[in-house]
Amino acid sequence: MRAVDIIAKKRDGHELSREELEFFIHGFVRGDIPDYQAAAWLMAVFCRGMSHRETVDLTLIMAHSGDVLDLSDIAPVVVDKHSTGGVGDKTTIAVAPMVAAAGLPIAKMSGRGLGFTGGTLDKLESIPGYIVPLSREQFMAQLRRVGVVVAGPSADLAPADAKLYALRDVTATIDSIPLIASSIMSKKIAAGAHAIVLDVKVGRGAFMKTEEAAIELAQTMVDIGRSLGRRMAAVVSDMNQPLGQAVGNTVEVVEAINTLRGQGPADFTEHCYTVAGQLLVAGQAAADLEQARQRLQQLIRSGAALEKFVQWIEAQGGDPRVVDDFSIMPWAPVVEEVLAPQSGYIAGIDALEVGLTAVELGAGREKKGEPIDHGVGIVFGPKVGDFVERGQRLFTLYARDAESLARARQRLLAAYTWSEEPVEPPPLIHRVIG
Ligand code: URA
Repeated sequence: MRAVDIIAKKRDGHELSREELEFFIHGFVRGDIPDYQAAAWLMAVFCRGMSHRETVDLTLIMAHSGDVLDLSDIAPVVVDKHSTGGVGDKTTIAVAPMVAAAGLPIAKMSGRGLGFTGGTLDKLESIPGYIVPLSREQFMAQLRRVGVVVAGPSADLAPADAKLYALRDVTATIDSIPLIASSIMSKKIAAGAHAIVLDVKVGRGAFMKTEEAAIELAQTMVDIGRSLGRRMAAVVSDMNQPLGQAVGNTVEVVEAINTLRGQGPADFTEHCYTVAGQLLVAGQAAADLEQARQRLQQLIRSGAALEKFVQWIEAQGGDPRVVDDFSIMPWAPVVEEVLAPQSGYIAGIDALEVGLTAVELGAGREKKGEPIDHGVGIVFGPKVGDFVERGQRLFTLYARDAESLARARQRLLAAYTWSEEPVEPPPLIHRVIG
């Protein structure tokens, strides 16, 4: 077999066999196939696509390029969730303890924020002491003991994906549904969960800009997981405006804790019930979504979900007093309530602009590895569809200094669109594939 023939075959739109994909990916990981051939192959895949069979084979080959965790001796069913990334998306921080409190173990390797999207690990590091890198043994032990673990990605899982992703990033080949789907699913398969719920974001503040593309990506990932024996569900959720009220790090942890107390914003709370409900059903901890919701509501009302959060944070080195004292997290010193410059219905709050403004404030990073500022952020008041009187609070800004606050204020005010007529808020969930 020769790499050049495999590139030509894909260039001409033919389906590659499993053996050809194995030869190519293994050769690339070993360093026998150089970057320039892998780049040409990626562009051929980008232009020609992949069949379902090829995509499943590629996923499995990448998943098995490193360690594959076996969580079966911890529990018969361990679940995992994955979000494709958005603005104000602190779902894991609330959903993981909700699900674990229902008796369903959840093991998750999360990511850091990059570009306009935030990252769960950055948010969790707002909690003093929280440890992100865990050894395999620590990961497994915490999962067994507490039923919830959210750690950094292991370099030993799906190394082929890491190497291919770095090349895709600089060859304009990120935006391909079979490549994105196999990239995400190879890591999920290697991480060992038996049931996986995907939260595919769509809209201005998401990588998928159209509903069609988001549904296609969600369906492709669900099909891959099912072909590999995993129980799967996906929600396609709206990311045209930020999710919930808070965007940043400390402020998002606060919102997740308030939600676990039953005092979260309506949209974020509903989103958590949807994702956690799908996890309970996929993980066979509830017969149907209605039963799942009732159980989850009861776990919030009784305080059991918040208690599970405390156990999780404490087990992972974090200061559990955070639930009663938000002041132990970092807060930026310059705070301002920004008031509505006009009366009217809010017709839009551009999530992409919000995400970019949060990065500019320091809450996120433009380049991998840059430090971030956990204390800065934005807390929104009214959302799309709400009527606002001139002079009413629109949002609160937490900034490091007056200059960055002024820039963020101006940028965010320009991210709003207004209407004199009533506006229908966007649907929270566009599609459920379950
Ligand atoms: N996230 C991933 O893990 N992989 C992709 O290809 C895109 C987003």
